[in-house]
Amino acid sequence: MSPRSLLAALFLFQLGAASLTATEVVWPTSMDRTTIHTPEDYLQATISENPFSGSYGMVREEGQRFHEGVDIRPTSHNPAGEPLDQVFSAMDGKIAYLNNATNGPYGKYVVITHPQAELLVYTLYAHLAKIEPSLKTGDAILRGKPLGLMGRTSAGAAPITPDRAHLHFEVGLILSTGFETWYAAQPENRKSPNLHSLWNGQNLMGMDPMLVLSRTRANLLDAVRSQTAVVSVTMRTTRPPDFVKRYPMLVSGDVERAAGWRVDFAWQGMPIRWTALEPGNALLPSTRWQLYAIDQSARKLLTSRKMITPDAKHPGEILTQNVEILLSGAR
Ligand SMILES: [Zn+2]
Repeated sequence: MSPRSLLAALFLFQLGAASLTATEVVWPTSMDRTTIHTPEDYLQATISENPFSGSYGMVREEGQRFHEGVDIRPTSHNPAGEPLDQVFSAMDGKIAYLNNATNGPYGKYVVITHPQAELLVYTLYAHLAKIEPSLKTGDAILRGKPLGLMGRTSAGAAPITPDRAHLHFEVGLILSTGFETWYAAQPENRKSPNLHSLWNGQNLMGMDPMLVLSRTRANLLDAVRSQTAVVSVTMRTTRPPDFVKRYPMLVSGDVERAAGWRVDFAWQGMPIRWTALEPGNALLPSTRWQLYAIDQSARKLLTSRKMITPDAKHPGEILTQNVEILLSGAR
């Protein structure tokens, strides 16, 4: 086969692979998806009035604060100015968590896991005015089924005013089933107990929701893998973190023989590639874990996200937190 036809065959193979599996996705609010032409059509701006402050990424406080989801605006209001839009499950899944109290920044929120997707992502729907009373944890839910009413519940630093009511939507990976142990061990959490078990936002690592919501069929594994790995750590543990069992498709090497791992992260802190390090591998760190490599072209972004320190020599607060949460699942 000539190199050219080999390339063509590879291309066709990839096209085939991409279309072999896909998960049906619906828009998670009453907004008609066919009316969306630009991001401004669905984004709800923060008080800054910049529409992109509602999108995903380092869009808050002049690029210094991370927004882990997308804020979708309402399409209709009642006479009091509150949204009339319903919120729907974006994909088939299972109700993982219902928070019916306004006791944190998410306010009233629902978390769904999606065992039928290419990998076990969660989706999260926050600031709801009301959660459907018929929903029960553990119940199966089909895409497009109502979860509640769009709203503005939040116990964050600044209340959400009626003109800024929205759905905060996230999609991503669950870091660790050891999260509660990790959380309780942090001195700064002594006065604020974890109210949300594994479904605390710190244990949920969101990616850009538009990787999923911008299409009617999405391959969730492809979406995760489409992110670039820009920072790596190495860790030493003979007990594999439960993350590698939950997401074997992100893992290479022999889990049973592993004495540690090289973990590659996307810029926001999602561990997207795990390589098992067998006993004696020179990459195994002498300490429990260490920063291994940084993509210098992403240095500014990694610094503002606190994945690394400004001198790029040490892990930052968020990378440290995520690695410690991941290791809390090594049991
Ligand atoms: Zn938001």
